[in-house]
Amino acid sequence: QKFFPIDPPGARLLSELWHYQRQDRYISADTIRVLARKHRVSEIEIQGVASFYHFFHLKPAGKHTIYLNTSVISEFRGYERVRTAFEQATGARMGSTDISGTFGLFPTACIGLSDQEPAALIDFYPFTNLNVVRVKEIIQQIREGIHPAEICDHPADHIRFTPPDGKSVFFTPYLRGNGIRRALKIGRQAIIEEIKIAGLSGRGGAFFPTWKKWDACRSFTSDPKVIICNADEGEPGTFKDRVLLNKQAGSVIEGMIIAAFAVGATYGMIYLRGEYQWLLNHLEDELVAFREAGLLGKNIAGTDGFDFDIRIELGAGAYVCGEETALLESMEGRRGEPRTKWFYPVERGYLQLPTVVNNVETFAAACRILEMGSGEYCKRGIPSSPGTKIISVAGDCQKPGIYEIEYGTSVGELLDMSMAIDPLFIQVSGPSGETLTTTDRDRIFIPRSINPEREIRCGGSLMVFSKERDILQIIMNFNAFFKHESCGVCTPCRAGNFIIQRKLEKLRSGLADHHDLHELKSWTHIMRKSSRCGLGKTAGNPVLTALEKFGEYFEGTYGAYHNDLIHPFDYTRAIAPFEQYKP
Ligand code: SF4
Repeated sequence: QKFFPIDPPGARLLSELWHYQRQDRYISADTIRVLARKHRVSEIEIQGVASFYHFFHLKPAGKHTIYLNTSVISEFRGYERVRTAFEQATGARMGSTDISGTFGLFPTACIGLSDQEPAALIDFYPFTNLNVVRVKEIIQQIREGIHPAEICDHPADHIRFTPPDGKSVFFTPYLRGNGIRRALKIGRQAIIEEIKIAGLSGRGGAFFPTWKKWDACRSFTSDPKVIICNADEGEPGTFKDRVLLNKQAGSVIEGMIIAAFAVGATYGMIYLRGEYQWLLNHLEDELVAFREAGLLGKNIAGTDGFDFDIRIELGAGAYVCGEETALLESMEGRRGEPRTKWFYPVERGYLQLPTVVNNVETFAAACRILEMGSGEYCKRGIPSSPGTKIISVAGDCQKPGIYEIEYGTSVGELLDMSMAIDPLFIQVSGPSGETLTTTDRDRIFIPRSINPEREIRCGGSLMVFSKERDILQIIMNFNAFFKHESCGVCTPCRAGNFIIQRKLEKLRSGLADHHDLHELKSWTHIMRKSSRCGLGKTAGNPVLTALEKFGEYFEGTYGAYHNDLIHPFDYTRAIAPFEQYKP
């Protein structure tokens, strides 16, 4: 790994922990001691960092480590069968290692393979569309000494678009350096103008205007400045960045270089989620190709004085690090806990330096806008919202994959394109997003939704659940995800997710009443109002929207209403003895 002169020694901590995790298969007490001495901090501090991240183990985690995805799509596609198959084949119980220490079997949140569930990472190599027979085969082959890298799957990238042929923004043939050369020609102010005219806004889900972020960073005089690509997409159901990094890594890197030139940055970093480390070599190769072409390093593209280089930092399995200030903490070698927002990263970001943090799709779009010009880009979409957006579609549909849609495309059109099967519960932007029903078919995707009746913003995923699915199971899975991923710094998020889980369990067991539903709603409001970061603010969304949109379903669970949804438990009878105790 290449490090920058500005990196303080402690900023290498995650890389060092990765080194020991790979070497010893866990972070031993000796390792903690060595690192504490080296960085002149207490052992507790090192242990605190290591224990924060899901992929660092403080106990031996097996010679081969298996992470099986627990997302709700995986649950519906046979997670239980696959888990049992792994347990039987390896001899390891979920969450532990087998007695010989050969295999460690652990649950993990979304690994960016929702279109190919059930999926697992074995020694961080992807294995997709798993079933009982395949699991047995894989484990047998590993026992025979075959390395997982030799037998892993290469996840299929199904890409479809609504723009006519040749009009796709992201997936037309890419020519390295074209965007950079045009950017250098038109100059800094014009680059920001181009981005502004194109209406590009943050594609990670916040949709903050990109030109404003770049312009603000440019206005600060501190030096050096930093560009960070947030490649830590962890929202269950989202896998568009995986496909972009696999198929169009060059445009992402080029977008970072253009941003660096526009704001005057010298250092760039890609924060790659640990789940995508099978893409690491591919990305390193791309960076080498850019350096060899004179597009990274000193005096880029023959300029006199535009120096910029990029290094990759590997995350270690913490969803909250997708939040930009948590990501900065993580990159500086600490626990990925979101910062209080005294300053935006454009003013004080990585090491308190002016920093632009954008996600993978935003940089890829910026590259394409500069390459084709904002005029050409604006021919796509609708006049008020030009351009295209990539959306990962998964769940109960016949054509899962990623869809590049023009803004203005309706939810119904996307459902039809993906051949959704009897859709009832449609989750947009992952668990922290919004729940739609079939009555929302006419709402159109746009980046800035002014009229929620007609429009919808989408960070990048659409999960389809048919009317055969258990709504309570879906929201319980979402809640378990948030509870697990909460960093625990603030009480509303830490306690709220726990209380919501208890209430949902009560609902499931048939013991809930109106009072519990009311408390569920109250907690989602408390979390929204008083949590520090987006995770806590949005963690209650699935519960709240499900209660609002599927009120009859929840009413039906305790006998006030009968509906035709298939549910494995008859709550009506279960709650009857407790009716007298209702407040
Ligand atoms: Fe951590 Fe949750 Fe608070 Fe965010 S809202 S800082 S994830 S405890």
